[in-house]
Amino acid sequence: MSGFYDQGALIAVLTTQPLDRTLDYRAPEGGCMEGAFVEVPLGPRKVIGVVWGPGEGGYDLSKVRSVIRVLDVAPMRDEMQQFLRRAADYTLTPLPAMLRLATRSPGLGDPPGMRIVYRLGDSVPDRMTPAREKVLGVLREYGGLAFTLKELAESAGVTSSVVKGLVKQGAVIEQASPRDLPYPRLDPDLPGHDLTPDQAAGAETLRAAVNTARYGTTMLRGVTGSGKTEVYLEAVAACLAKGRQALVMLPEIALTAEFLTRVQARFGALPAEWHSGVTMTERRRCWRMVGEGGAQLVVGARSALFLPFRDLGLIVVDEEHDQSYKQEDGVLYNARDMAVLRASLCSAHVVLASATPSLETWANVQAGKYHRLDLSARFGVAVMPDMRAIDMRAEDLPGSKWISPTLRRAVAARIEKGEQALLFINRRGYAPITLCRACGFQIGCDHCDARMVEHRFQKRLVCHQCGETKPMPEKCPHCEAVDKLSPVGPGVERLAEEAAELFPEARIAVLSSDLYGSARALKAHIESIAAGEADLIIGTQLVAKGHNFPLLTLVGVIDADLGLQGSDLRAAERTFQLMRQVAGRAGRADKPGSAMLQTFQPEHPVIRAILAGDEERFWAAEAGERQAAGVPPYGRMAGIILSSPNVQEVFDVASDMARRDGPLRQINAQIYGPAPAPIARIRGRHRVRMLVKADKAAPLQGALAQWVAQFKLPNSVRLSIDIDPQSFY
Ligand code: ADP
Ligand code: ZN
Repeated sequence: MSGFYDQGALIAVLTTQPLDRTLDYRAPEGGCMEGAFVEVPLGPRKVIGVVWGPGEGGYDLSKVRSVIRVLDVAPMRDEMQQFLRRAADYTLTPLPAMLRLATRSPGLGDPPGMRIVYRLGDSVPDRMTPAREKVLGVLREYGGLAFTLKELAESAGVTSSVVKGLVKQGAVIEQASPRDLPYPRLDPDLPGHDLTPDQAAGAETLRAAVNTARYGTTMLRGVTGSGKTEVYLEAVAACLAKGRQALVMLPEIALTAEFLTRVQARFGALPAEWHSGVTMTERRRCWRMVGEGGAQLVVGARSALFLPFRDLGLIVVDEEHDQSYKQEDGVLYNARDMAVLRASLCSAHVVLASATPSLETWANVQAGKYHRLDLSARFGVAVMPDMRAIDMRAEDLPGSKWISPTLRRAVAARIEKGEQALLFINRRGYAPITLCRACGFQIGCDHCDARMVEHRFQKRLVCHQCGETKPMPEKCPHCEAVDKLSPVGPGVERLAEEAAELFPEARIAVLSSDLYGSARALKAHIESIAAGEADLIIGTQLVAKGHNFPLLTLVGVIDADLGLQGSDLRAAERTFQLMRQVAGRAGRADKPGSAMLQTFQPEHPVIRAILAGDEERFWAAEAGERQAAGVPPYGRMAGIILSSPNVQEVFDVASDMARRDGPLRQINAQIYGPAPAPIARIRGRHRVRMLVKADKAAPLQGALAQWVAQFKLPNSVRLSIDIDPQSFY
């Protein structure tokens, strides 16, 4: 229960400082609410925190200091406090780290009022310099958005005097603007599209679910293009009509642009956005307005789940199977699962939308925990593409080429007819390996146990683990032979090169996430492709995620076997999902599409399941195997990763931990390892992994917490615990 604390009362404040407990203070003059955001003294500093409950006392009370002030933002709601607590318990994360996720808004403590902002003006400056060009470029790129001086100068990489110079010229407008305006009202009563009977039934089910104002989760399944978005927008409409807020999460920033356009068409205005591509000023506005009810709908990335919604009634997780919902550094949480937790605490409905749901979600449907809604057909006349394998063993292809004669003919035929084709390869860069033909040396990262990947467009080698880059060397770093370094294996850039040779007349577009400066540049490129300004698209995973290319009728998958090789427990599931998603790009409009999968193992059960499109069978078979192995979703797992600059030390610590496993044995959990992690070194730190497996019903987190508490780790050793790990690197 929320309480009020009178002036001088002893209160516990949770700060974002890396401490393992709350701190006691005295309530300030005028008192404060539980949940209030406050500024408190900590040593010589002032830090921000939340009034978490009554103080704990039990020490010299004369030393307790007073809260400095209560911030002018909506207090944290009870349900948000509970959510942070439960999420912290689930992910074994200290509460301060959870609070950091929930307070990722710049200037939280700033007073409201006016501020000076900068926008694009009408005049052209008398003299254009590269620095001025950069400033105007940034303003144009972000359309009508306003920037503060600091933000604008930093985004453009210029000094603030450049901006001021442009203001004098009228090319940039300087104006006072109230901070944090509410977002324009979305009107749920505007008409949507006429829905097909199937879609209308689905929309009605979701509307009814939202209108109960009780917690529930629905899996919304339908092939790409079946109208899942149309249907869940009706759930959003119902939610807004009830006066509650809605959150739509998308796995990729690049997808938001298209979605925003659809929201505007449906509700007459743009929603709030929350993701890494949003300016600091807008983030602050979004955070505040969500808390005050000045934002009805937020479209965001996984961290939007931690926004301080006043009355959240619906969470949509689009492409719910997508791996990017799992945060892989810092707090290791899965936004899909946390969405369900959050919704259960605030009586909201969750929609998990996907053409290829995760096995976890499917299993929850089977277990009766989630509802299920299927959209059977694609919208309009489009049908699922015809799928077939190209048996690479029978193709005549030299070693350094990847487009088989069969695929080449199919592409040529499409281009001739004025249709688009897509070649898919799930690898960024030019080539995954750079090998010295003289000594056999492979260029690796200096800080990681990983190969450097050549990115020819950027003329650099890049480590996909740590992001380190270096120029392509002239000679072998090992034997110094000149002109012997050569690329091995294909990446998207190399495939583009091969395609350009095969189809010299074709207009080729390369879509890979690392080739764009900004989400908006990417959006513009995607739109031009959709409008027909390319004949052949060469793309990575980026294209698998929900873009509409109406002219696209052929998808060629260069290496369908790529995902099957890993020892990852989800390898089959991921390959199945990815191949189905990519194939789903073909034939969305009125032209039937086809998908061709190049494979060396056409008889592999996963490849056969993909071709047959028999999802229920695939899921059932996959579920059977996981059940037999006692792995998620039928058993519980936690990854334990220890790292240190010192390899001996990290092994010693890990072995000690594995030996003293009493608390884990108590719940019948098993430890596997320690073993060197598949990537045994990242950023100079040696990595050791252990895997803990337990029964589905076992209280795993409690046992892990007890187990870990036994050890005092040396400062140089870092421990992270990954509940329900998705990746095992
Ligand atoms: P999904 O989310 O399942 O991939 P979408 O909702 O994006 O499907 O629908 C695919 C395309 O078909 C979109 O361009 C969408 O606007 C269009 N569409 C789907 N249903 C309808 C409808 N009932 N009326 C008009 N257009 C529709
Ligand atoms: Zn590296």
